[in-house]
Amino acid sequence: PEDLVSHRFDEIRPYERAARMVQNNVRHAGAVLLGPVPQDAGLAKALGLSPSQIIDAVEASGLRGCGGAGFPTARKWRAAAATGAERRVVIGNADEGEPGTFKDRVLLTERPHLVFEGMTIAARAIGASEGILYLRGEYVYLRDLIEETLAERREKGLLGKRIMGVEGFDFDIRLQMGAGAYICGEEGALISSCEGLPGEPKTRPPYPVNRGYLGFPTVVNNVETFSHVARILDRGAGWFYAMGTEGSHGTKLFSVSGDCINPGIYELPYGATVQELLAMAGGDDAEAVLVGGPSGTMIARDTFDRRLTFDDLATGGAVVIFNGKRNILEIVEYYMSFFVHESCGYCTPCRVGNVFLQKAIAKFRAGLANPGDIDYLKDLSATIIETSRCGLGMTSPHPILTTLENFPLVYSAMVKPTRDRIRDTFDIQSA
Ligand code: NAD
Ligand code: SF4
Repeated sequence: PEDLVSHRFDEIRPYERAARMVQNNVRHAGAVLLGPVPQDAGLAKALGLSPSQIIDAVEASGLRGCGGAGFPTARKWRAAAATGAERRVVIGNADEGEPGTFKDRVLLTERPHLVFEGMTIAARAIGASEGILYLRGEYVYLRDLIEETLAERREKGLLGKRIMGVEGFDFDIRLQMGAGAYICGEEGALISSCEGLPGEPKTRPPYPVNRGYLGFPTVVNNVETFSHVARILDRGAGWFYAMGTEGSHGTKLFSVSGDCINPGIYELPYGATVQELLAMAGGDDAEAVLVGGPSGTMIARDTFDRRLTFDDLATGGAVVIFNGKRNILEIVEYYMSFFVHESCGYCTPCRVGNVFLQKAIAKFRAGLANPGDIDYLKDLSATIIETSRCGLGMTSPHPILTTLENFPLVYSAMVKPTRDRIRDTFDIQSA
């Protein structure tokens, strides 16, 4: 729908520093998540349903996790509800650290109530009494806003005992600050961090829905997922289901940055093409677009008709635009250095393999690569993906693999014999 892409959000909350940062970033925003919304109407409607009816509504909406993986939200909730455990937990993941992602920051600045409303609905659905918002360490300036929002909700009876007067529905949320580690956005590491342990991923299964925070069944969802839940309960599952595509229903927040005139947050129905997003963002001279951040896919201009859906270009929301002046290998090397820095070091393929990949890319950049180095990049990448314990290692070779596939000449031009041929050609011409 047109109003999803054309609404410009101008109402800025009185948190000066945060507001300024948001103002710099929000160019266009959707009318659904970031536009005017009736507060807690979704929660009020949810409380008129049974917990299993709430999960049915979420299932009927087709909602999938917005952190990137797209796991069906209702299936996760149903599994946690089915445990029947005495203590159950809901965690909002706001540790967005994917380079190029900043939608959760804007969402929490503009619509913190919507996120907490969704978490409260989730608590009702799965039978949780305890909630945690895990906030990226770098977003510490949002701490006061979040604490004030939580206090306001307690005062209004939207958190604490007998929420909205419903006997037996007790639920509260505490804020847990991250400390600057990207890996703590991975749910196992996030849970470890909440438990006061080093932020290291856990081996799955068991999944958190069975054994999570302190061993109790825990639903971990991205904060955007929770805000969709609040809208779905208010407007109805059919409203959400009708938007998007067959496999990807509803809308998604995209963080758009890089070489474009209007970077910012865009809310679009799933199924929009990269080209459509570029047209809105003013990225006319884009030559490459990275969808999903470095753990996603780098595509070239001839495939900008690809769609932003789970069936095509799945993403947690990061869209980074590069024009023809950018050096693809420099970008790839930068992202590999990011993964090297952020690896928790638990497994050797990720801890050591990413360093080798980074060195190999440096060799290409220097024009010192051998013909066999392209196969080396592919083989080592496959090993790291196959043998890593968590999502970081399973996706860290993506910048290399997707550029090898979609920008092959960038690599072959830097292989030694090719490079020498180019030099010889140049010498002949200049002579
Ligand atoms: P995953 O597919 O392994 O799991 C996704 C979710 O589904 C998890 O919550 C998991 O517990 C749950 N799940 C999966 N199988 C289940 C089962 N059988 N039973 C119950 N629950 C189950 O993905 P992941 O490793 O958690 O996350 C990887 C994604 O994170 C990538 O797609 C990447 O794009 C994204 N990512 C996002 C950011 C960001 O800043 N938003 C940063 C890095 C990576
Ligand atoms: Fe740690 Fe990397 Fe292994 Fe994940 S894949 S557990 S980040 S070493």
